[in-house]
Amino acid sequence: MSKVAMSACADYQPQNVQTAVDDILSQLGGLQNFVKPNQKVFIKVNLVREMSPDKHGTTHPEVVIALVNELSKITPHIVVGDSCGGLYTKGVMNTVYNKCKMTDISARTVATLNDDFDFQTVDLKGKVMQKCEIINAFVNADVVINMTKLKTHSFAGYTGAVKNLYGLIPGLIKVELHSRFPDLGDFCNLLCDIEQYASQKIVLHVIDGVIGMEGAGPTNGKPKFIGQILAGANPYELDVVAVSLFGKPFQMPLLQVAKERGLVSDDLSTIDFDFSTLKDKFVNDFDVPEVTSANTFLNMPKWVKKLAKTHLTKKVKINKNKCRGCGKCVTHCPAQALKVVDKRAKISQSKCIRCYCCQELCPFDAVQLKKTLMYRVLHAFSHTKNKK
Ligand code: SF4
Ligand code: SF4
Repeated sequence: MSKVAMSACADYQPQNVQTAVDDILSQLGGLQNFVKPNQKVFIKVNLVREMSPDKHGTTHPEVVIALVNELSKITPHIVVGDSCGGLYTKGVMNTVYNKCKMTDISARTVATLNDDFDFQTVDLKGKVMQKCEIINAFVNADVVINMTKLKTHSFAGYTGAVKNLYGLIPGLIKVELHSRFPDLGDFCNLLCDIEQYASQKIVLHVIDGVIGMEGAGPTNGKPKFIGQILAGANPYELDVVAVSLFGKPFQMPLLQVAKERGLVSDDLSTIDFDFSTLKDKFVNDFDVPEVTSANTFLNMPKWVKKLAKTHLTKKVKINKNKCRGCGKCVTHCPAQALKVVDKRAKISQSKCIRCYCCQELCPFDAVQLKKTLMYRVLHAFSHTKNKK
C-alpha cells in the first residue's frame, strides 16, 4: 500500500501551485524519498498535441515548474518531454513545446526540454505485447516522474496516470498500436503492460487536476474546475482517487482491467487515502463520456464486442463547416478510414475502428462524435429504468 496525497489549488497562480505541490510532497515524506542526488530525471508530461495551457488538455507548465523548483534542490539533471499524438520529430515537438508553454519551464528553471527524438525497442514481456518501442528520454533516465492532466477520454473514459504512459511510445507507432488493439479491453491491457514495464523507473506520478477537462476529451472537451493536485507512487491507486473526484473509478474500463489483473483492488480500504474527505470536493455535474457501457462487453466474445462497438459507441462525423482539409486526421488514422476529398475529410464508417485519434488530433475541432440510434435508445431506456 502506498500513500496518495492530494492538495487543494484554486488556480494556476505560481505561488498557489507551489504551495499545493509543496504540500503533496510533504504528505509523501519529501521528494528525497523518490530521487537521489544527481540522478538523471525525466519528467514525462502530457502534450497530446499543440494546444495552449488555457485549453486545459495538457499538463500545465506551472505545475511542472513547481515540481522542478523542488527537484532542482536534489539534482540539476532534469529533462521534460513527451511524445505527442503526431510525428515525433524536432520540428513538430518544438511547435508543441511552444504552444503548450513548455518553453516557460526551460526559461524559468534548470530543466531542459527533451531534444532526443529517437527511441529503442525494449522487452515489455506483457500480457498482450512482448516488445515495444520506447522513447530514449525514458530509456536514458535514471528515474522518471509522470505528470499528467486529469481529463476525460472519448475512447478510454478518462486520462490519468496510467493512460499518460502511452506517450512513452514514439509518434506514429501509437497509431499502429491503435490499429493492432482496436478492442478497448485489449487496449487497456496494453496500457497495463506499458505501465508494468515503466514501473521499473517511475518513482512518482502527479496529476494536474486544478482545471481538468470534461466531455469530449482528451482535447476537444470543456475545461472544468476540479481544484486539486494529486500524487502517489502507485498510478492505479492514484487514478482511483482522481476519478473518485467526479465519477465511479471501477466503471472505467482501464481500472476494471487493472483490477482483473490484480494491479489494483476495488476494496478502497487497501488504498492509503481518506476517501471521506472527497465528500465536499466531489464535482457533481462532471460530464463523463459514456464509454462505460462498453464495460459490459469487456469479457465477451470478439463478435459480440464488434456488434457492441458498431451500435453502442459513438460514430465519427466530420463537421464540413469546420474542416479545413489539412489531412492531419488522415495521416493518423490507424484504419485508413479517412481521406481528403474536395478539401474536406471524408470517413468510411465501415473501416472506422472508433479509436477517436482523429478527434484527439484535429486542430480545428472538426471531428464530432455522434450517438447511433441504438445507442440513444438503449441509453434512454437505461436512464428511465434508473429513475424508476
Ligand atoms: S477533420 Fe480536422 S484534421 Fe481532418 S482534415 Fe479536417 S481539419 Fe484537418
Ligand atoms: S476515422 Fe477516426 S475514429 Fe475512425 S479509425 Fe480513423 S482515427 Fe480512429
